[in-house]
Amino acid sequence: MTELDTHTFRLAVAQFNEAAEAMHLDTNLRERLTLPQRSLIVSVPVRMDDGRVEVFTGYRVQHDTARGPSKGGIRYHPGVSLGEVAALSMWMTWKCALADLPYGGAKGGVKVDPKLLSRGELQRLTRRYAAEIFPLIGPDKDVPAPDVGTDQQVMAWIMDTYSQQVGYAVQGVVTGKPLSIGGSLGREDATGRGVVYVTLEALRHLKLDISQATVAIQGFGNVGSHTALIMQEAGARVVAVSDVSGGLYNPKGLDIPELLRRYREKQEPLHESKLGEPITNEELLQLDCTVLVPAALSEQITGANAAKLRCRILAEGANGPTTLEADRILTDKGIFIIPDILANSGGVIVSYFEWVQDVQRFFWKAKDIQDRLQDIITSAFDRTLQFSLQKRTTMRMAALMSGIDKVAQAHLQRGLYP
Ligand code: GLU
Repeated sequence: MTELDTHTFRLAVAQFNEAAEAMHLDTNLRERLTLPQRSLIVSVPVRMDDGRVEVFTGYRVQHDTARGPSKGGIRYHPGVSLGEVAALSMWMTWKCALADLPYGGAKGGVKVDPKLLSRGELQRLTRRYAAEIFPLIGPDKDVPAPDVGTDQQVMAWIMDTYSQQVGYAVQGVVTGKPLSIGGSLGREDATGRGVVYVTLEALRHLKLDISQATVAIQGFGNVGSHTALIMQEAGARVVAVSDVSGGLYNPKGLDIPELLRRYREKQEPLHESKLGEPITNEELLQLDCTVLVPAALSEQITGANAAKLRCRILAEGANGPTTLEADRILTDKGIFIIPDILANSGGVIVSYFEWVQDVQRFFWKAKDIQDRLQDIITSAFDRTLQFSLQKRTTMRMAALMSGIDKVAQAHLQRGLYP
């Protein structure tokens, strides 16, 4: 499939093949599960502020819908491609199955740098993209959510565009919405909170104490910033954070609430902050620390830098941050990896809660959400750990095999149509 052939897609397929081989997956299912079920490519013409019309390319890919409606974010980034979106949709399938959510996997994206758009341009782009993917989405069909470069406001415009087409307010068509239109308490920080919950489990397993733990985080967007705040609340020392333009290091621990205030309100670049010393992203990845959290883009830890990592635990907040070659090097070094489809599943778990609240029109308290998130994600962690110990395999393979197995069961029980 040359049109899907990108680095990220090859990584997702290679992971799948390794797991499929190890679990002796039914050969009739293998080819189908390496490919998406449906892929839509759309042209998104947008009236720019200067009067010109610029045409952007957008995608929505549904990898699998055997277990329920497909679920997954929408990414706005210049690097978005069909292959990347397809890989991310495949990871969503395994992620939802691993957490036992009644969903398949999907992902969407527009190849655009949202930082270069005005608010009006961003709104027009979002509404036209939503109108173009309208035939695929819906609360019983496919439910988008935020991802890299999109947020609550983008979700609100998608919800409104969809609702205008059908003629009434449809809250359950997207998750990660503002509270005023059916969003859920606890969705904004859910991915970061989930990263912390599984890290606490990993520390317990390795008999390490959170109060002695140091944490370095690559990425200071939704996932990285909330992970930093909640890690600190949990008692860890966050010694480094970074964004695309560089990072900040303080061995005594960074003042995360203050750093975040300056970053958001004053737009002060991290590496210019006086709260620590500037470091590069590459230096951050190689810091001697207890927990390293890659929470930016895919393929950051590769054959070229994996041998230099000095963390004890790698908690993958991003999707696909580690290449297969790096995986082997890290495993040989004895680094405990909490794989992406487990570590960052807090986001989609609370998205599921949001969707349930929307379709039932009955809203929960913040405490119910945190408790249920902790329950689902820590039991997924425990099941994965037990499975990996039993089968003498890595946490990544254990997580993939359990996710793939649930999807395979659904396919085999439903049978092949027609
Ligand atoms: N974009 C997030 C992810 O990669 C969340 C998806 C969702 O909530 O549907 O898991």
